[in-house]
Amino acid sequence: MTQVFKTRVTEDFGIEHPIIQGGMMWVSQPELVAAVSEAGGLGILTALTFETPEGLREAIARTRALTDRPFGVNMTFLPTLIPKDYGTLIDVIADEGIAIVETAGRNPEPYLERIKAGGAKVIHKCTSVRFAKKAEAIGCDYVSIDGCECAGHPGEEDVTSLVLIPRTVDAVSIPVIASGGFADARGLVAALALGAEAMNMGTRFVATREAPAHDNVKQWLVDASETDTMFVMRSLRNTERVLRNEIAEKVVAMEGQGAGIAELAPLVSGRNGLRVLKDGETGVGLMAAGQSVGLVHDVPTVRELIDTIISEAHEIVGARLAGMIS
Ligand code: NAD
Repeated sequence: MTQVFKTRVTEDFGIEHPIIQGGMMWVSQPELVAAVSEAGGLGILTALTFETPEGLREAIARTRALTDRPFGVNMTFLPTLIPKDYGTLIDVIADEGIAIVETAGRNPEPYLERIKAGGAKVIHKCTSVRFAKKAEAIGCDYVSIDGCECAGHPGEEDVTSLVLIPRTVDAVSIPVIASGGFADARGLVAALALGAEAMNMGTRFVATREAPAHDNVKQWLVDASETDTMFVMRSLRNTERVLRNEIAEKVVAMEGQGAGIAELAPLVSGRNGLRVLKDGETGVGLMAAGQSVGLVHDVPTVRELIDTIISEAHEIVGARLAGMIS
């Protein structure tokens, strides 16, 4: 497929299509990342998934062996049960000359100089206009704005992408990437219409053949509707959107009884999430997913997914919308 949509993001990143695969804990592994980049999008590895500097270095090497196209690395700064050594992972990112780094969660300012030491451009993914303006002020190059439809951590303000994206586009002059609620061609066209230069998808990419997720999880995503996600950990001001299951319901019930992170840890731990994802034990932990899960009906290859999105988006803009103009 040749380029259909040329945007500031496709031009700057040297990619064919304005489609980014956002950093997802455990999911953003070399095979998926390389498949996205090979199909003309931008794949993003998640540094914390590899835990050690050696692990991250090896994942970068594995990705480079699979694609010579651009890809990025995500660094998420959010509370963790076991303290993470962000500095040593960032040193790897800089040493390896990673060109695009997606930061997420807390303010990345303490790490920006180190991240950029290797020449990286930084996309900061955040959940409010206030944080987007801050990201621009501290020198981030792009902002990925995450509406509350998103999987994982939507922030605490619950503003949907339909409002958050144009508000952010109006508030900053750096390019904006639309995140949260996107899964198909209609979403891509909407993102571009709202002023974004690319769309970021997470949940949709978990239900692809290349994603390192158990078939039970992919089927769960296909079967789930847009009403099958829920918030957990709101009482900790660290809200996460996950697929509804017994563990998620139990976490919310315990929060209602005043439980703190110490009591919740055995339920919310990422180790249990890994068992869900990798071993397909869907009842033992939390599985992050966005409301866009309601738009997921199949498990295509990454290339089939991206090609379909681009050709349908072309049709929407070139035929459906063009035909509405008199
Ligand atoms: P983990 O096992 O350390 O923690 C599990 C969950 O509890 C995470 O959501 C974490 O933020 C939360 N948590 C931990 N300590 C906390 C505290 N003191 N107060 C409030 N909440 C606390 O996490 P993990 O699964 O190993 O993931 C590593 C990092 O990646 C975490 O920061 C996690 O939030 C993040 N993550 C992000 C997404 C996403 O939205 N893209 C999805 C999964 C995980």
